[in-house]
Amino acid sequence: MLPVIALVGRPNVGKSTLFNRLTRTRDALVADQPGLTRDRQYGIGKMGDRPYVVVDTGGLSGEEGGVDQLMEKQVQAAIAEADHILFLLDARAGCTPADQVIAGQLRRTGKPIHVVVNKSESLDGDVAGADFFSLGLGEPLPISAAHGRGVRSLINELLQVLPGEFEDVVEEDKGIMIAVVGRPNVGKSTLVNRLLGEERVVAFDQPGTTRDSVFITYSHDDKPYTLIDTAGVRRRAKVSEVIEKFSVIKTLQAIEQANVVMLVLDGQQGIGEQDATLAGHILESGRALVVVINKWDGLQSEQRDQVKADIERKLPFLDFAVKRFVSALHGSGVGKLYEAIDKAYANATRKLATPELTRILEWTVQEHQPPMVHGRRIKLRYAHQGGQNPPIIVIHGNQTDSVPMTYKRYLINRFREVLKLSGTPIRLEFKSGE
Ligand code: GDP
Ligand code: GDP
Repeated sequence: MLPVIALVGRPNVGKSTLFNRLTRTRDALVADQPGLTRDRQYGIGKMGDRPYVVVDTGGLSGEEGGVDQLMEKQVQAAIAEADHILFLLDARAGCTPADQVIAGQLRRTGKPIHVVVNKSESLDGDVAGADFFSLGLGEPLPISAAHGRGVRSLINELLQVLPGEFEDVVEEDKGIMIAVVGRPNVGKSTLVNRLLGEERVVAFDQPGTTRDSVFITYSHDDKPYTLIDTAGVRRRAKVSEVIEKFSVIKTLQAIEQANVVMLVLDGQQGIGEQDATLAGHILESGRALVVVINKWDGLQSEQRDQVKADIERKLPFLDFAVKRFVSALHGSGVGKLYEAIDKAYANATRKLATPELTRILEWTVQEHQPPMVHGRRIKLRYAHQGGQNPPIIVIHGNQTDSVPMTYKRYLINRFREVLKLSGTPIRLEFKSGE
């Protein structure tokens, strides 16, 4: 399970600045994808190998209305889902009465809280902290979110107290872990039920909390698979048809725990903003992906063409993924999903030989040279694999810091094409010899 960290505090104390720091993408290439919209409320950060979810709760006023109305529903919900609260304060403003009110509310949640004093860059650390001791929530940690000061030690401290070791491996008896994600009503539960169909379900575990998904292990063609069901199919039958509320955290967790993500889209409703945001999360996670366009039944051929064009226009950054058009309701196309899943996972974990990567690099550079920088041409000399799932290709050369984004995309496209690496993102890393 990924630890979930909620940022709470008055408006303007620097929550979104800290959020950006904590979730700063692992990869500039991802950030630069045209069409990708960032989720400004939920994000995943990574410290070493350990990912965590960050939620920006928006502002708590601590001023208007009665004490009970202060903690808005949305913020309450976010806090309920969090493992840990970062109570952000403004060093320059000092400890205000509103901060005292919020502190009281946070204390009643019973959650572990860190008092984080932002904008401390120009103040003496002790001076900045002293005022906030009076909140009675422990030792204040001075940081400067804008300048990045203190943020690393803050994360370090958090990771020591947070749960959540995370390993990305295929366990033999569980097979490939498949997360089925998508906005409400696209047909996730219908699809999960269809996939399970007559299959032999080996195990499924009960979720501990509402933000946990159900894991269903079963065998298909004598091979094990585990579905990570964010829609709560099996639960629905039990808890008298209670439809689970869509939870971004649950979805983020499922994506992170998966080997392959199935993003379900609604062919009849078209592509919306929520689809694009989810797609963005998946891209950042680096997971292998199969895009499932559901409800393909009952569509005229012009409508189908339109949906396909819509996907290309609105989700251009998913061009690496295999797309499958299915009807979960009638079952058409569903069986073929396994081929796409197996393939995507095999590609994501493939071993790539150094001579082959270097050869492709040489061809690619010959075909189209990288640009000149400061009167000298960027040199890319050789390549080797730096990791799997997703494949990381490390390229050695000179002035590699200056390789333009468009050229990086060109390289990625060539590697993908020649290696036939569909279904998985490809990451590049550069090492400069000077
Ligand atoms: P939010 O409303 O809590 O999300 O606050 P924002 O992140 O939008 O920040 C409010 C303002 O404080 C912005 O103008 C930021 O640039 C500024 N700010 C954030 N962090 C720092 C910091 O560490 N030092 C200083 N001096 N300003 C900061
Ligand atoms: P979820 O919220 O993503 O789990 O979506 P559901 O599986 O509950 O499906 C939402 C609605 O879409 C239900 O009324 C389903 O019957 C319907 N539905 C699901 N799959 C299909 C499909 O392939 N074709 C059509 N026409 N309707 C579907």
